[in-house]
Amino acid sequence: MKFDIITIFPEVVTPYIKASILGRAQEDGKIQINAHNLRRWTEDKHKTVDDTPYGGGAGMVMKVEPFDKAVSAVKGIENTRVILTSASGKTFTQEDAKRLAEYDQLIFLCGRYEGVDYRVEDQIADEALSIGDYVLTGGELAALTMTDAVARLVPSVIDEESLARESHDEQGYKEHPQYTKPEEYNGWTVPPILLSGDHAKIEKWRQENSL
Ligand code: SAM
Repeated sequence: MKFDIITIFPEVVTPYIKASILGRAQEDGKIQINAHNLRRWTEDKHKTVDDTPYGGGAGMVMKVEPFDKAVSAVKGIENTRVILTSASGKTFTQEDAKRLAEYDQLIFLCGRYEGVDYRVEDQIADEALSIGDYVLTGGELAALTMTDAVARLVPSVIDEESLARESHDEQGYKEHPQYTKPEEYNGWTVPPILLSGDHAKIEKWRQENSL
């Protein structure tokens, strides 16, 4: 599966996608994640990506043309989804992560400043997604959040057992508390049942302590 993140700050995105599980999954050829500088698709010598809003108002709005050219350049032939990151979009959930994991390519468009010319949402993107009810300075964290949540669902990126029972599944399950060594730290102890070796009782405790 391929992820393409279009941004004016690829340097914000690159360290995260190179690290840990996402980095390893790319080295192993299971996924591919690219950060593209939107300014590549500008024509003027200043590489302008924004302009003043029609009708007046504060701040600058990102232009439609660079996004249009960027999407045309990176889009594969089929089974691609173009996602605009937007504070006013639908809130991204685990269900969306599962749905988006069915595509061969996801293209994330990152806004900055006052936002993006609405024609990007209306004409170029397939959907607009928010990562929560707050306003960020840019779409990069949103694109990374969604890339991360989708990429870990791609077969063999993480082991199947970890995915088998997780928070936010269809039943609204929230995972039970987890502990590791030492058994006691600062007087804070691990529930004795988890040390008992009785797998039936441990499973029952886990069920009772998940929501
Ligand atoms: N003026 C816009 C509004 O009121 O909705 C906010 C623009 S925000 C400062 C700049 C960019 O950050 C947006 O175009 C979007 O790409 C991104 N962004 C901000 N908050 C976000 C969120 N909660 N989820 C996804 N993207 C977000």
